[in-house]
Amino acid sequence: MGYTAVHARWGRLDASLDDLGCGRSWADVHRVKGLELACPECRGKVFARISPHRARHFYHQVRPRDCALANESPEHHLLKLELATAARAAGFRAELEVGNEARTWRADVLVFDRRDRPFMALEAQLSPMTPQEARMRTDRYAADGVAVCWVVLEKRPWERGVPSLRVAPPRGRGDAWTVRYGMARYTWAGPRTVKTKAAWTHISCSLDEAIRWILQGRVHAHTGPDGTVWWTARSYVQLAVVRARLEADAEAVMQEAAAEQRRQGRRATGRCR
Ligand SMILES: [Zn+2]
Repeated sequence: MGYTAVHARWGRLDASLDDLGCGRSWADVHRVKGLELACPECRGKVFARISPHRARHFYHQVRPRDCALANESPEHHLLKLELATAARAAGFRAELEVGNEARTWRADVLVFDRRDRPFMALEAQLSPMTPQEARMRTDRYAADGVAVCWVVLEKRPWERGVPSLRVAPPRGRGDAWTVRYGMARYTWAGPRTVKTKAAWTHISCSLDEAIRWILQGRVHAHTGPDGTVWWTARSYVQLAVVRARLEADAEAVMQEAAAEQRRQGRRATGRCR
């Protein structure tokens, strides 16, 4: 199941858009006899259909084993649409299942900036991959100037090494997808209090909000000292830097005071003799 298909004259069709992204309508492709539509990935013949979840999509007449689009799970399919919808709701042009010319990547959702240049890929990554693969695929996007946000449903061994979000599907009707991990804030009471406990806390928010913050640049992928990556606002990073500096200063002052105490102690003992 994919959201896109190719027509010889109309070009690329995107089932998630009312005009299919090419000035046509669903009625032009759904149950139309003799219409030739091809899968953009394997070029196999596809047909327009509506899923039990009411999502319009294209399915393969014969499901080929090696076509990534043909073998996507229903969860992957739904999450992809959710990501595209969130990006569009945030005011961006977003295309489903689009790759680069060199075919080094194909994004589930590719988001375009105000100048219509691709700048962010949103990847629903439900199948397993190694940390090395995650890094390599992230770097392939980076080579084309495209950042990536990996979206997962379960805890993955690679998710902390690349920009990612762990999400949960809606629990019921009218409920929204939620982010469970990957979006963090820094909490610190500040230097005025004795209790200077500070920590990065992963927050829960709606997937829509998270995607909007990411695309609008209100949060960015921050890499912590141990190589862990999470999304956060610059002000939180600045706060963490300020606190680390104050802590280092306080440590230096305390060491100096301790050294002074030792020196005075030696002088006092010297006088006693
Ligand atoms: Zn295919």
